[in-house]
Amino acid sequence: MISIKHLSKTFHNPDGSTLTVLKDVNCDIEKGEVISIIGPSGTGKSTLLRAINMLEPPTSGEIWVDGENIMAKGYHLDKMRRKMGMVFQSFNLFEHLSVLENITYAPVRLLKISESQAKEEAMELLKKVGLSQKADVFPDSLSGGQKQRVAIARALAMHPEVILFDEPTSALDPTMVGEVLSVMRQLAKEGLTMLIVTHEMRFARDISTRIFFMNEGIIYEDGTPEQIFEHPVHSATKAFVNRIQKLVYQIDNEDFDYLQIHTGLNQFCLKYNLSDKARTGYEIIQEMLFRHLKNVRPLTFRITYAELAGETALDFMVEGITESPLPHNEATQQLRSRVKDIIEEPTSRGFRIKILL
Ligand code: ADP
Ligand code: MG
Repeated sequence: MISIKHLSKTFHNPDGSTLTVLKDVNCDIEKGEVISIIGPSGTGKSTLLRAINMLEPPTSGEIWVDGENIMAKGYHLDKMRRKMGMVFQSFNLFEHLSVLENITYAPVRLLKISESQAKEEAMELLKKVGLSQKADVFPDSLSGGQKQRVAIARALAMHPEVILFDEPTSALDPTMVGEVLSVMRQLAKEGLTMLIVTHEMRFARDISTRIFFMNEGIIYEDGTPEQIFEHPVHSATKAFVNRIQKLVYQIDNEDFDYLQIHTGLNQFCLKYNLSDKARTGYEIIQEMLFRHLKNVRPLTFRITYAELAGETALDFMVEGITESPLPHNEATQQLRSRVKDIIEEPTSRGFRIKILL
């Protein structure tokens, strides 16, 4: 139904600099698919949705919808807009129109449906999203969750073939996320084609036929929810789905900036609520860098925190060696007794010592 080939988007900033947000996006979306797009912020997820419906004209590439290239000269964008609905993070309702008028506005003007038929359909849709009682009120009297359900009803009123959702629950109070997700679940069950940018991982996993993991302006990895969440191929995907936060330092000489590492550790622990780990972390880093690993340079040191697993680790990677640089003596034994675990493993890059705090 939608086929995207080599799509790119470069923004030209007023100061003359440029930013290439979409590098080379390729994908095919079949009718009835529910695709969740996940990935770190700033990787172009919103830009991709906006490019697909030409709110943000792409720089190059092709977008085929039902066998027509919508980027071709002479293609009437209205035709595509009727096929694609869009639901935004910030609802974008018309504040000066009632809930009912918000829904009937476009069908009456663009689809030339009679006012009365449009109203009838709008009432059906309001019932579907659980808001029959709200037809005559204005958006400002609604909660965020209710506004978003109206926005979904408004998109459905155009009988779209596909709806693009851009983080539909990100602006909501946590208590209201569920009501919007349950409407979307229902639509998925009914077979509506949907493309959803979301940070709700459980939801994405339950509802989707496929997941696109976007990273650095491309679809980095795509697959079934099981493939992406249980057996991701790329380490960036793995880190993202396990919500692994990290802080990385490259240490290549004797006079590295230890104070910077110490400050970094403190900030990291503060940010992820790990203050109980800060002290042991500090002592162990010091012991490792100034004692056990004093003579192995360069090395990469990272502090990682896997949110889902609740695991904090100090990870020392020494390149180009195959044997553990940790001496097998009492000092190491003592070190071992103060942490949860020490994993020593050779890798293709070198040797890694991972200390779980
Ligand atoms: P995501 O939705 O994955 O968080 P976005 O698509 O919103 O990412 O943005 C990707 C990058 O493009 C960001 O660095 C953002 O600042 C930049 N960007 C988005 N829209 C514009 C614009 N209209 N002009 C310039 N830069 C933009
Ligand atoms: Mg976004």
